[in-house]
Amino acid sequence: MAYKTVNPFTNKEIKSYVSLTEREVAEKIDQAEVCFEKWRKTDFATRRAVMKKAASILREKKGEFARLVTLEMGKLISEAEGEVDVTAEIFDYYAENAEKFLAAEVLKPKDGKQAWIENEPLGIILCVEPWNFPYYQLVRVVATNLMVGNVVLVKHASIVPQCAEAFEKLMLNAGAPEGAYTNLYVDSSHIGKIIEDSRIRGVAVTGSEKAGSSVASKAGESLKKSTMELGGSDAFIVLEDADLDQTCMWGMWGRMNNTGQCCVASKRFIVMDSIADQFLNKLVEKFSSLKMGDPMDRSTTLGPLSSESAAKDIAELTKKAIEHGANVVIGGKRPEHPGAFMEATILTNITKENPAYYREFFGPVILFFRVPDEEAAIKLANDSPFGLGGSIYTKDIERAKKIAKQIDTGMVFINKPTWTAPDLPFGGTKHSGYGRELAKEGILEFVNRKLIYVN
Ligand code: NAP
Repeated sequence: MAYKTVNPFTNKEIKSYVSLTEREVAEKIDQAEVCFEKWRKTDFATRRAVMKKAASILREKKGEFARLVTLEMGKLISEAEGEVDVTAEIFDYYAENAEKFLAAEVLKPKDGKQAWIENEPLGIILCVEPWNFPYYQLVRVVATNLMVGNVVLVKHASIVPQCAEAFEKLMLNAGAPEGAYTNLYVDSSHIGKIIEDSRIRGVAVTGSEKAGSSVASKAGESLKKSTMELGGSDAFIVLEDADLDQTCMWGMWGRMNNTGQCCVASKRFIVMDSIADQFLNKLVEKFSSLKMGDPMDRSTTLGPLSSESAAKDIAELTKKAIEHGANVVIGGKRPEHPGAFMEATILTNITKENPAYYREFFGPVILFFRVPDEEAAIKLANDSPFGLGGSIYTKDIERAKKIAKQIDTGMVFINKPTWTAPDLPFGGTKHSGYGRELAKEGILEFVNRKLIYVN
């Protein structure tokens, strides 16, 4: 796919970019390799200064960075500003904590000799990233890897080329040497060839199952370590005693944040029968009050999807779900509105035979299920090819903790949808991928845990 900015609010093309040739990519890898040999020898203070500077530039130019996100993928401007803030926080967090996470680990072998593990950089890490959080997805792999002493090559999604360019400039302006952070405008079909290059030492992907499986198999063939942050279909489990107003607020946020285009969005609402009608009515009321419009306008609460094709895909998936017996409570189709819009939708009566049952809905559509009891809720939550996040709503925290242990996902939150923070590890299981980003778990993904032993 060619790199272009198409404003999803108007569907007008604004700017396009020429993809790199194979030769240009080879030159960028050469440059990254030269940089790595120097960067790996820098001390933490040098790396920390770059991270701190990047955070301060982001804060200073928050408006500019946020505007590009809204322009290219349609995120509400206030959410785009929030993304710039969290990106800066992550830079700060790894500036301050990476050294501690990467400290040598002393071992106590049975023979009484001296032994320890050093966490050493690996080299060039290739990162394939999605458009839904055009900066936050990058900082997760950039702040961690640069603090380790690795360098990164980043293939960003083709619909956010200006954000990709802005991030590369940000790193250079923050003092990162050329080659430490390299933006690659390359077609995804070119990725396999890049992975084969012996200087690429690891591959991190955030994206769909399809992209993940293609890149993971290539990385496997070349014996490269990989991490996969893929799709999800998080359960939002509401127990009988939940505070329904508060839970409804979280349900709206969990599903509608970023117009429903989050890997950890609350996609399947699993609600106890006894309170299901009451809860559904509250959700419908909230959904009806959404204001569709320009994502740059601060009064808009329902923006466009990231692209016309994303809007078509979710509308098609919804249509198929309805054809296979799902009931529409609200929404259900594309609105009479120019741009990449989809109505905020709630579907019920989704049976196991419905192809929608096992699919990820990447947009403003709730799949609403009623269950008789806790056991049925857990069974339904786990009946998914995905295993990313999920959440449970109740006043009985001890009960929620027991349920959380039975949910087969990488993350379970209680009384809040699964979300992210600089110091919490993020990642999934099953088709949601493997490996973790962020926190100590994330920073140790692409290091050589080298054993040193003294006889
Ligand atoms: P996508 O189509 O897989 O794209 C993600 C990235 O992968 C883009 O840079 C894309 O490039 C590239 N790509 C696509 N196919 C590829 C291939 N065969 N080989 C190499 N690279 C390839 O995913 P998306 O639709 O943009 O993003 C939505 C998906 O990402 C959802 O499933 C969502 O749940 C998941 N996601 C997961 C997380 C997480 O942390 N677990 C976070 C955010 C999103 P082009 O743009 O050039 O096609």
